[in-house]
Amino acid sequence: MKKLKTVLIALMVVFILAGLYLATNREKEFSRTEFLLDTTCSLTFYGDDGKEATDAVFEEIERIEDLMSMYNETSDVYRINSAKAGEEISVFPDTYEVLQTAQKIAKESDGAFDITVAPLTALWNFTAENPTVPTEEEIKECLNFVGYENIILKDGKVIKKKAETQIDLGGIAKGYAGDKAKEVAEKFNLTGGIIDLGGNIICFGENPKSEYKIWRVGIQIPFSPTGTYEKTIDIKKGAVVTSGNYQRYFEKDGEIYHHIIHPKTGYPHKADYDSVTVAMESSLIADCLATAVFVTGDEELLEKYQGEVYFEKAFKE
Ligand code: AMP
Ligand code: MG
Repeated sequence: MKKLKTVLIALMVVFILAGLYLATNREKEFSRTEFLLDTTCSLTFYGDDGKEATDAVFEEIERIEDLMSMYNETSDVYRINSAKAGEEISVFPDTYEVLQTAQKIAKESDGAFDITVAPLTALWNFTAENPTVPTEEEIKECLNFVGYENIILKDGKVIKKKAETQIDLGGIAKGYAGDKAKEVAEKFNLTGGIIDLGGNIICFGENPKSEYKIWRVGIQIPFSPTGTYEKTIDIKKGAVVTSGNYQRYFEKDGEIYHHIIHPKTGYPHKADYDSVTVAMESSLIADCLATAVFVTGDEELLEKYQGEVYFEKAFKE
């Protein structure tokens, strides 16, 4: 009897110790959400430095927002937009890198991706409380100033050919912020993490919740409640970026007007798909390409970059 008691006590001690061991060795998880870059940004980090890494990453995203916002009067973008024709505008290296990439993808996509759509996005004003459909004349007037060739980049400086030309980095800034966020996070003692900048997903390290330590990213079904997925993409690391008409739009007389503008027509691009998702290492390139492929429907744009593209449609009733 005494022997049985000793065995039971020994077993209890083993269980308690095993429990303590598992509790201390389970990955620490740290998550936080902030509203930045005009969208909801959520970070989930695993490892000892979760809190410190989160603080540093949000600081980095804020720094990028301060450079690339259209509304902040001290931002590089604001200064470019208010410049005269021919004026040389010095910008920060981050902004210059984003502009160089934007111009490169603009050329490669034959102008389907074009940051000079700014006068058009201002005219359509999708974020207004009561947006209206512009007149054809208004659109025609804006088109005079749209065209990536109106922006010249030289030795860290930006020059506009026309004073009225303006830029909108809405189709690329989140992508850049994603890569920079990952770069900052990787400096900390983390085993892995997932960065979600308004649906732009960037993963690094190992996923402690997966048997194979990989990340599974769902492709949002357009016009369905957030988190409705049919397809998923499994990745070890890198970015999964979606451009979709459902992300920002308004409805007028049964017609949907959305925020991805065809830079040649000035109207939201009508397609037989509702979203384009690009998965690749660079979140910056993925962001440009998702927007560009939405406009062209042409997967070949991805050929020179190692990536995958997925088209998605809304559920039909
Ligand atoms: P995304 O969600 O990355 O596809 O970016 C869409 C945002 O980029 C819009 O809200 C506009 O600010 C801007 N945009 C719209 N059309 C274009 C275009 N054809 N090329 C580049 N940026 C665009
Ligand atoms: Mg984009």
